[in-house]
Amino acid sequence: MPRIYQDISLKPYNTFGVEAKARYLASFSGEQELRDLLNDSQFGEMPVLLLGGGSNILFTRDFEGLVLVNRIGGIEMLEEDDQYCVIKVGAGENWDELVDYCVNNGWGGLENLSYIPGSVGASPIQNIGAYGTEVKDTIQMVHTLNRDSLFPVAYNNHDCRFDYRNSIFKNRLKDKRIITHVTFKLSKKPQYNIHYGSLKETVQEKGEINLQTIRDSVIEIRRSKLPEPEETGSAGSFFKNPVVGQKEFKKLQAAHPDIPSYTLAGKRHKIPAGWLIDRLGWKGYREGDAGVHTRQALVLVNYGQAGGREIYQLSQRIGESVKSAFGIELEYEVNVL
Ligand SMILES: Cc1cc2nc3c(=O)[nH]c(=O)nc-3n(C[C@H](O)[C@H](O)[C@H](O)COP(=O)(O)OP(=O)(O)OC[C@H]3O[C@@H](n4cnc5c(N)ncnc54)[C@H](O)[C@@H]3O)c2cc1C
Repeated sequence: MPRIYQDISLKPYNTFGVEAKARYLASFSGEQELRDLLNDSQFGEMPVLLLGGGSNILFTRDFEGLVLVNRIGGIEMLEEDDQYCVIKVGAGENWDELVDYCVNNGWGGLENLSYIPGSVGASPIQNIGAYGTEVKDTIQMVHTLNRDSLFPVAYNNHDCRFDYRNSIFKNRLKDKRIITHVTFKLSKKPQYNIHYGSLKETVQEKGEINLQTIRDSVIEIRRSKLPEPEETGSAGSFFKNPVVGQKEFKKLQAAHPDIPSYTLAGKRHKIPAGWLIDRLGWKGYREGDAGVHTRQALVLVNYGQAGGREIYQLSQRIGESVKSAFGIELEYEVNVL
């Protein structure tokens, strides 16, 4: 049975670095340990919170239950030919270490998702994405345990209902499944995807286009734009980019001719939430230790001692100001607890 900690600070377990306490906390490194913890009568009907790297969560209060930190490791080769390989990865593996491992082996598909913090197990939950790539493009299966029955249930790519920063695990099955492993299908003859933003230029400056130069370029760009979690607390983008229909977009464009957007299927338009927030003057705003990042308005930060509630209240004020100026309701990308 894993060691169980009582009344423990969650500060080291969340990249916002906010203070909150867990009534109980334990790590598990295999499915049997997880079952033993969930069957333990001392936890009774207590709420349970799964945690990977804590890089997509904001604690606004103490957690009066059991926090379970996923440490299931391992990378297993399931299938391989000269075109593809299929690997099954433990949910507790570090995401960026997996990307590095794949790039070193010459397996393509994850390189654009370099340097995203967190665990492999959380990657399907919000279908992590960056630089024109989403993890759904490589996921073959997501292996879970049903939280109530503790039986294993596996989902193929289609069943996961992946969408922009969304999947079945973030809505209908939220808190109902524990992801234990993820299976990825990676290409040994990768098609490089460097058409997003400044990625192409940065890669070309390195001379050759290959998995390693793409990874290095993504890391370089991200380091120049985003706060390093070890230095400044954050959870990356706090809000999702809103998606609006054609009619609403035309209205917005008439009022704000320079509004940027990406056109999606079905005449829908994705608008960068960072632009909306920046336009209202929030970039670089700071109140105590809670603030908006100086280089990216979509990222809320903790400069040191901010509490989760302060950051949450700031996010609400930003949301209200976007609503009143543009009529757009911003949705949270971060899980607020
Ligand atoms: C600086 C920075 C940059 C970022 N950039 C990006 C980016 O470019 N693109 C992007 O998509 N995201 C980005 N993020 C957000 C974050 O890194 C991802 O969402 C990541 O996948 C979260 O992983 P985690 O293990 O830290 O999840 P956690 O924060 O630990 O958990 C997130 C949610 O998933 C649940 N959960 C975690 N593990 C499991 C499991 N095994 N089973 C069931 N539920 C589980 C938790 O209960 C919680 O609700 C960024 C964050 C930071 C701090």
